[in-house]
Order: sequence, then C-alpha cells, then structure tokens
Amino acid sequence: MASSRPRRPRPPGSLASLRHRNRGRIIDALRGAQLLSRAELARATGLSRSTVSTVVAELIDDDIVSEGAANRPSLGGTGRPGVTLCLNPSAGAALGVDIGYARLRVLVSDLAGTVRAELDAPSPDPDDAPAIIDATVALVQQALAEAAVGAGHLVGAAAAVPAPVDRETGLLGVESCIPALAGIDVGGVLSDRLGFAIRAENDANLCAVAERLWGDHPGHETMLYVKLAHGVGSGLIIGGRLHRGFHGTAGEVGHTSLSPDGPLCKCGNRGCLERMAQGVMAGEPSRTSRRSPLADLVERAEHDDPVARRALRDVGALVGQALGATVNLLNPSLIVVGGDITPAWQALENPVREALDRCAMHRPAEGVVIVPGALGVRAEVLGAVGLALREAPALPFAA
Ligand SMILES: [Zn+2]
Repeated sequence: MASSRPRRPRPPGSLASLRHRNRGRIIDALRGAQLLSRAELARATGLSRSTVSTVVAELIDDDIVSEGAANRPSLGGTGRPGVTLCLNPSAGAALGVDIGYARLRVLVSDLAGTVRAELDAPSPDPDDAPAIIDATVALVQQALAEAAVGAGHLVGAAAAVPAPVDRETGLLGVESCIPALAGIDVGGVLSDRLGFAIRAENDANLCAVAERLWGDHPGHETMLYVKLAHGVGSGLIIGGRLHRGFHGTAGEVGHTSLSPDGPLCKCGNRGCLERMAQGVMAGEPSRTSRRSPLADLVERAEHDDPVARRALRDVGALVGQALGATVNLLNPSLIVVGGDITPAWQALENPVREALDRCAMHRPAEGVVIVPGALGVRAEVLGAVGLALREAPALPFAA
C-alpha cells in the first residue's frame, strides 16, 4: 500500500488547488472506466492533452497510476494505438461491511476489487443496538489489521443495513429488519467510532450494485434487484447507476400495498408485499432462530414438503404481482431475485413470471429477463465494496 500523505489546506484558485483538482478528475475517470488511454482521459475529463500528460506522469511517479502492458487502438483517435492507464491496485483500499440480521461480514479490497481480507461473525441480539455497533467496529478493525490497511489508505467505505436510509439525516427507517437500529444514524455512529467516513446504504441497493458489477449479467443498464429474506427489499439501477430517489428510499417494493384490507404492516400501511409474504409463511420473522422463515420454507420445499412448495408458489405470485407496476413504470431489462430464495428458484420462477404477466403490460413483461442472484450471501458486502470503489468521497492519495 502507498503511504498516506499529510493533507495541506490549499487556497481556492491557487495553482496547488488547480493541480489537486486535475489529479482528482483523472483519478475519478480511471476509477470509473478502469482502463483509458491519455487521449480518452482528455476527452473524459475535458482537460487538455498536455495537462493530462503532465498529471499522468506525476501520478505514475507517485505509484498511483500504472501503464497497461497491452496497447489497443485509441477509441475515435487518429489511428495511433493508445497506451492504457489504470489505477495501481495497491495504491488504496476499499472497505465493505454488511450488518445483517444473522451475520456480520466485512471485506477489504484493493482498487482492482481483489480481496485483501474477508471476515464474518454472528450478529448480536437484534434488539441490542450498542452490541451490534461494538461487534461491527471490532470486526472492521480486525479485517483492516489482517489486510494491513490503515484508515489513511481507504478510498471509501460503505455498510449495508437492512433498512431504508434517509438520504439527508442518515437515519434508518422504522421498516428496519433489525428493529434496534431504526432511528439511528448507523453510518455516522460507525464513522465516529472508526475515525473515517463510512456510509450506510440499504442492503438491497448494494446487492443491485454487486450484481451489476460482478453478477455476470452484462449489458443491463436498467435493472431491478429484489431481495427476499427476513424482509422484502429491492434496489434499482437506472442508466447504469444506483437510483436512490429523493429521500433515499427508492425501490421499497416490499411496501407496495397489494390489498387495502390486508394485515397491518410495520410501515403503517395495510397489505404490503412484505407483510403478505410473511402471512403466507405463517407469521412474523423468527426472533428465536436467526434463519428467516423463508429459508426454512425453502429447505422444506427442497425436501418435497407439499405445504412448503405451495407456500413458495404463493410468495412468488405475490412478488410477481408487486413487480407489475414497477415493470410498467421502469421497463427494466433484467430482474435479479436474491436473498434466501436462491436455492428454491425453480419453484418460484413460474409463479413470479405468471403473476408478472397478469399485472404488467405485455411488452415490458415479455421482454424482462428474470434470474436468481449469482452472489449468494456475499452480495451485500460485495456491493458495499463496489459502492466504496465507485463513489469514494475522497481519495487520500490525490494530494
Ligand atoms: Zn409496509
């Protein structure tokens, strides 16, 4: 890892400030696109070719940027192949955290997404917020130590939480699957305890980010991730980017009301998808076992329990019904269904598809590909790393 550099205040408008901004623009462009030639960097940043050449030479001297071994033709260039440039993977690190109902997971990666350390541990009592925060902080510190990464080397850090996160306040919504964390600014608390900025983000949003980056579903710019576990959440990718909405709560498909006379939901409405699905699964999320009722149902269905198989079909029909309006509104090309349901996807696929066909317009319903999640229980923590890499608020080495 590169050594961290002390930051000095730069007067706005000064040459040092301009140089810092130009370095940041080039690093941002490389972070978004991985490999670019100098000519492509000039186009992507709006900087002149000579400025790009000067700044790139400095970044190579500082061991932050590397020249690629293979040349390729420069896109739209004058014919001379461009030497590709990339961020030196070891010039920084990203931290991902998953605060799940059953497990805590922490992953530290380099700038290329290579895992440097990955740890998990049982989650503390879901009614004990201080214990959850303490355990998360301890696991993060252990992972950073194992990866030999200091806080000064982190380009970004994000934590997945099973709740909507208010974009302005950072507070977790009352719909949290870990009730004790509702109303807490988990990102702020973790940042204070760890001494660096860490952002809390809805877990289904991060699963969507992870599936887009590493889920082997290339070419889908408008996609929806649906997480079926203790609750029902979803994440939206629109135009290739995570869509959070005005308050940061976009994608809460689990709280789509399917029956105005249905059972009361924790969000205050009636007949929400999440509450109806829990009804099918005979009750509230279990507090004695950390497995979700859905995971139990999936296991029973795998052993040919006819009641479990019927219940799964009913859950699939509810999901398909709730997705109808979303498919009409957004016309996604891909829906990824993940969470505890993945092993039982075969039992769920037809009911989801049939209900979607009933509840959405023919053209968008027919055209959308529906697949099970590819990343399993690591989707949340991988998404947190992905977000940290793509939306890092500060690059300590952009000095
Ligand atoms: Zn609800």
